[in-house]
Amino acid sequence: MTNRVRVAVVGGGAAGFFAAIRSAELGAEVTILEKSAQVLGKVRISGGGRCNATHACLDAKELATRYPRGGQALIGPLRRFGVAQTIAWFEERGVALKREDDGRMFPVTDRSETIIECLVEGARRAGVTTRTNAGVVDVKTLAGGGFELGCGEGQPGVTCDRLLLATGGCRSAALGVLAAKLGHGLEPPVPSLFTFHIDVPWIRNLAGVSAEAEVRVISAGLRQQGPMLLTHWGLSGPAVLRLSAWGARELAAMDYRFPLRVNWLPGMSQDAVRAELQRKRETDGAKLVVNAPVGRLMTRLWEQLVLAAGLDRGARWSSVPKAHQLALVRMLTECELPVTGKSLNKDEFVTCGGVRLADVNFKTMESKLCPGLHFAGEVLDIDGITGGFNFQAAWTTGWIAGTSMAERVTTTTAAA
Ligand SMILES: Cc1cc2nc3c(=O)[nH]c(=O)nc-3n(C[C@H](O)[C@H](O)[C@H](O)COP(=O)(O)OP(=O)(O)OC[C@H]3O[C@@H](n4cnc5c(N)ncnc54)[C@H](O)[C@@H]3O)c2cc1C
Repeated sequence: MTNRVRVAVVGGGAAGFFAAIRSAELGAEVTILEKSAQVLGKVRISGGGRCNATHACLDAKELATRYPRGGQALIGPLRRFGVAQTIAWFEERGVALKREDDGRMFPVTDRSETIIECLVEGARRAGVTTRTNAGVVDVKTLAGGGFELGCGEGQPGVTCDRLLLATGGCRSAALGVLAAKLGHGLEPPVPSLFTFHIDVPWIRNLAGVSAEAEVRVISAGLRQQGPMLLTHWGLSGPAVLRLSAWGARELAAMDYRFPLRVNWLPGMSQDAVRAELQRKRETDGAKLVVNAPVGRLMTRLWEQLVLAAGLDRGARWSSVPKAHQLALVRMLTECELPVTGKSLNKDEFVTCGGVRLADVNFKTMESKLCPGLHFAGEVLDIDGITGGFNFQAAWTTGWIAGTSMAERVTTTTAAA
């Protein structure tokens, strides 16, 4: 008689596959149940089709600072299975990852399909059974331990000793229903990693321009600095996405309507900008203001900022009235733009919210409320900023859950 622990993994995404492979490699009998027709759907579209699989940051504590929610809880798990282990895991299976200048890591093929093939092949080799079109709609605990899963009419159910919920972001309460049925509370879901709508014609006219900027939402105490992209609907780019992640809850509470303060010259103090404008007046007096930008601003952006500050296109430095000079300083360093809504970022987005972390043991990813139940990936109230951190959380929590579910094999065998 075999005493292999039967593990059911609900969700054939990044976290589910990682956990399933790990558990099966350690001897468990593993079934993945995926509700859609294809597994690893998000991996396929991730990182613009290239899959930003992780981020080149080997220090667990530092890496944890890139998670607006869940970073603290992830420090221990990242020490056990962090970026170095992820790189090695893929390399052992023939997938080399490369690092880009900003630290993001992608498969050298630049194809998310490479990661998918690796995970699907890894699962096949480890003997994992994968069932697609098998959405789990019901879950019950069994009297003697273990779980019974219902997959809807006409679909065979599954019983298992250990259950992993790796169902992804709980964008609505319905998506967290299995966790809730087993006694878990959910932090309410709100989107993270989104771009801002700004209905200001001169911003939209600059679609495609990028600039280093500092962005702030003063009422919420939020501040980020980095590259920003002007788009035909408003603002995007790393600085905006990071602000949206750190402020996911506060910005949702404001219904995505708030004043955004932009400093277009973040490397210069306001005094330095004032002095620079004065210097221009004295040395470039005969030049048209629109043709002589300050700092490293792109001419197109500078021109729009000058006009938005109320100066004429024909104004020369020597003839700029004092009031306009002050308005220009404010426009450059404290430009206030009304945000009127948000759009999803097409390259990466996640849900803030999910299974409450206090109810999960991060040494095993097992529920503290329901023995045998485990969690991994975005179903948890963990989300990172853009740059490979969300997949890293899925690999890390998936590996730990997979390890712990299979370790029970030994316990069960010994007890039998
Ligand atoms: C467009 C886009 C691009 C992204 N790019 C990146 C990137 O480059 N780098 C990065 O780090 N992060 C990226 N992310 C975020 C990343 O994809 C997620 O954080 C990650 O996929 C989470 O993995 P997961 O396994 O927890 O959930 P998911 O990948 O969402 O997988 C969950 C799976 O569970 C299935 N499921 C749900 N409920 C049930 C049920 N009841 N029964 C059976 N199956 C069920 C779903 O169909 C799904 O297949 C991106 C996200 C998006 C949307």
